[in-house]
Amino acid sequence: MSIKNKVAVIGSGPAGFTAAIYLSRASLDVTVYTGMQIGGQPSTTSEVENYPGFPEGVMGPDLVEKMQKQAENFGAKVVMGTVASVKKVDDKFALNVNAEDVLYDAVIVASGASPRFLGLLDEEKWVGKGYHFCATCDGFFYRNKTIAVIGGGDSAMEEANFLTKFADKVYLIHRRNEFRASKIMIERVKTNPKIEILYNKQISKIKGQERVDELELTDTETDEKSNLKIDGVFAAIGHKPNTEFLEGFLPIGKGGYLETAGDKQKTTMTLVPGVFVAGDVADPIYRQSIVAAGEGAKAAMDCERWLESVE
Ligand code: NAP
Repeated sequence: MSIKNKVAVIGSGPAGFTAAIYLSRASLDVTVYTGMQIGGQPSTTSEVENYPGFPEGVMGPDLVEKMQKQAENFGAKVVMGTVASVKKVDDKFALNVNAEDVLYDAVIVASGASPRFLGLLDEEKWVGKGYHFCATCDGFFYRNKTIAVIGGGDSAMEEANFLTKFADKVYLIHRRNEFRASKIMIERVKTNPKIEILYNKQISKIKGQERVDELELTDTETDEKSNLKIDGVFAAIGHKPNTEFLEGFLPIGKGGYLETAGDKQKTTMTLVPGVFVAGDVADPIYRQSIVAAGEGAKAAMDCERWLESVE
């Protein structure tokens, strides 16, 4: 390994920035490509209460900003931009960014996951017009309004609770009568007087003129339809790994997640030597910032060792 070795980190969430901290501290030449959302998923969340080292909790955007500063203090470069594709060119990796190829000796893929859509016909046209995916980003616009949150996981619970800071009323709409969220989060929702839970309901239509003002709901047991007047709706129904730019370069595994070449406990290297994975893009199970950060550290250490081995 030499300090001339250039490593690209694709993604700027806890996995990417932690990898960058470790690699730049080891004096490697590190560039972090931020993707569309600098800071990844934590930058769109509210308070994080379970990240060790913050007994009072920490706001998601503050957490990743601190990680970024820590990486930059060791010399990592942070480039605002999205990687369009990756390919192998001799013993280097060419990342296509802004229509230009940039060469690296190794790559850490920490591109995370993006919010899932409901799958409705004209869903995309409502994005930003009363249809949202991030309460921290857009909740502020719903002071004294009525909002719906869709989902039954921890994200939906967190979003619903957070939105009661602004809204007068929050409907939590779930397609089953059981939640998959953790007990503590469910309890907070159930005891919040501003939240009303609608079980066994699926959104079948988003309605409105310029903006969303009504949802058509379908009962998942009886198929009965009903309408619900709202001012805005937040989907919190999980995420899809961000791997499109790797198609044809890296094999994509089950559920769209990336996989390692061997036992994930023992290596973060993919089937392409010199390419490593970390965080939610390769994690269908834990999907936590702390886990992603840990994987970022592992990927950086694997990457350093690999660079040493190929010298
Ligand atoms: P998730 O656990 O996968 O939950 C997704 C929810 O959306 C499920 O309830 C699912 O319903 C529902 N859903 C999926 N597709 C749907 C559709 N087309 N229409 C209606 N509903 C749909 O995702 P998540 O809540 O984003 O959580 C992801 C991970 O991050 C989890 O491990 C979670 O614990 C973690 N997380 C933790 C915190 C925290 O601790 N502070 C906060 C947020 C997230 P079904 O249940 O019927 O499948």
